[in-house]
Amino acid sequence: MQNSPILPADPRCEYLLNKEAIDRAVDDALLSGRYILGPQVEAFENAFAEYHGVASAIGVASGTDALQVALRAAGVGPGDAVLTVSHTAVATVAAIELAGARPLMVDIDPESYTMDPAALQAILEEWHEDATILAGCTPRAVVPVHLYGHPADMVAIKALADDWGLVVVEDCAQAHGARIDGVKVGTMGDIGIFSFYPTKNLGAMGDGGALICKDPQLAETIRLMRQYGWQQRYVSDVAGMNSRLDEVQAAILNVKLLKLDAFNERRREIARQYSRALASSAYRVPDAAPGIAHVYHQYVIRTTRRDELREYLNAQGIGTLVHYPVPVHLQPAYKGRDLTVGRQLPVTEQVCKEILSLPMHPGLSDDDVQRIVKHLKEWNAGKTA
Ligand SMILES: *Cc1c(COP(=O)(O)O)cnc(C)c1O
Repeated sequence: MQNSPILPADPRCEYLLNKEAIDRAVDDALLSGRYILGPQVEAFENAFAEYHGVASAIGVASGTDALQVALRAAGVGPGDAVLTVSHTAVATVAAIELAGARPLMVDIDPESYTMDPAALQAILEEWHEDATILAGCTPRAVVPVHLYGHPADMVAIKALADDWGLVVVEDCAQAHGARIDGVKVGTMGDIGIFSFYPTKNLGAMGDGGALICKDPQLAETIRLMRQYGWQQRYVSDVAGMNSRLDEVQAAILNVKLLKLDAFNERRREIARQYSRALASSAYRVPDAAPGIAHVYHQYVIRTTRRDELREYLNAQGIGTLVHYPVPVHLQPAYKGRDLTVGRQLPVTEQVCKEILSLPMHPGLSDDDVQRIVKHLKEWNAGKTA
């Protein structure tokens, strides 16, 4: 077993840790005869709302859909600009365009890898000076991304959003359970959106997503929108879509939500082991300021010889990933869109060349971590021949 490959993420292992309960829950869902918007989804929505201490949670088909629905329900669409980051999953930007709005990229902070509030302020002020930079669009919403499980600076971002009248939708797809001074992400803005893609901190065994919000009217609009705008069957009160969480995924999520805090704690423990072992190396390791409860969706180090290191680890049977190698605004599909209104994003463009996501999932053993650390130290010391 010593040299069996170590995966960067391992949703199968999470299943095996809960196999009996998940099998039973799926069986129940299959035997119930209700496969869409039944008791499993309702139970999950109630439990997920309660976990966050908010009035409402609404299940949808994916994280991308959750963000699209959030923006549309908040009245954001054509003619509106939505400020977000380019250092994110492309889904964040795709969802903004699906809602009909124009994405506008803000640079990130080099420590937290999340939206830099000073850069947000700068671009809003630039637009205020010269509205032509957005070609007739008006900034209407901001989507901070709690990347890698580290919360964005919500205090500063919320203050700016209030000043400029922006809707705040938190992208929590990588940060289920992360907190700032005890307050969970997703509860500080107007709406929080989540993905349950299998490798996320709370993962289904297929696609799934959810939105949370405090405003009952907004929650009602979201609820209608996810199913054709129906209040009553076959009567559309608003123009909606079809984006539903299914009963089987909800049954699995009902089991896994109970494990979320313990799994996040295990991720933090693995992160502590990595950081302790790599403290005196040349690698830059992630950090969280006091009051920040990081949930380590990814444990991301930085090194200028990233690609060589990645190849070396791979040869030792250690799988790593890069989240993300190319910022959204430089990807082929988006290059021609001028998502930065002619600006550069120096931090975003620098970090993507140096970041490396080490294996991180709750099923990783201490021995696995020791083995990974041993190879990282050898590489750092140049003893890899
Ligand atoms: C995974 C992810 C999404 C999209 O979720 P899907 O369920 O794959 O649609 C959105 N934003 C971020 C930051 C993500 O990591």
